[in-house]
Amino acid sequence: MRFDVLTLFPEMFAPVKESILGRALDNNLIELNLINFREFSTDKSKHVDDTPYGGGAGMVIKPEPVYDAYKSIIEGLESKPKVIYLSPKGKVFNQQIARELAKEEHLILLCGHYEGIDQRVIDEIVDEEISIGDYVLTGGELPAMVLIDAISRNVEGVIKEESVEDESFSEGLLEYPQYTRPEVFMGRRVPEVLLSGHHANIANWRREQSLEITKKKRPDLIKEERSQTNG
Ligand code: SAM
Repeated sequence: MRFDVLTLFPEMFAPVKESILGRALDNNLIELNLINFREFSTDKSKHVDDTPYGGGAGMVIKPEPVYDAYKSIIEGLESKPKVIYLSPKGKVFNQQIARELAKEEHLILLCGHYEGIDQRVIDEIVDEEISIGDYVLTGGELPAMVLIDAISRNVEGVIKEESVEDESFSEGLLEYPQYTRPEVFMGRRVPEVLLSGHHANIANWRREQSLEITKKKRPDLIKEERSQTNG
């Protein structure tokens, strides 16, 4: 899976190169290209922003450097990759979208900054706008990293398949509690059933815990599941 990220701050992406994703990059399961579209500015001082038409606070990213950077990516490609603009106005990201996007071979992620990006280049190149929640961040870099992480976990080989299947949201439920050694910590014992070695009982216990935790913490997920199964 290939990610091309259009950003003014490529150095912000260091966290994506660590840990599990770092290994996935080393093993070529995912590829990450960071394209600083400032390099595509034809301005002598490499400016990429200007004041908004109609007035108002802040600066707006100009369309040309974004478009030229995008063209440099797609030149020579046989098929056009999906372009996602990270934006608070977009569809709110979730596990289901992460799973769907993991089926793509190539994604271009466009990160805005300042007051955002000139609408004309968004209309010209963007296929989908995605938000990571109902709040406003300074730039699209953290949201892009959130997408790269959540999508990559669903790319074959990045993590063990059973881990993805068991995780929160995988069946519309939150995950059951996890325990490791020692058996007793601060007087709190690991639930007996997990020490029993009885696979069916463990599976039942985990399912019950998942249901209970979801009912308590995210009852909306259970309602969603019901309304989906009822049609
Ligand atoms: N003026 C814009 C508005 O009110 O909708 C907000 C611009 S924001 C300060 C700058 C950039 O951060 C956006 O262009 C977008 O790329 C990114 N961004 C901010 N919040 C985001 C969110 N919740 N999800 C995804 N991207 C976000």
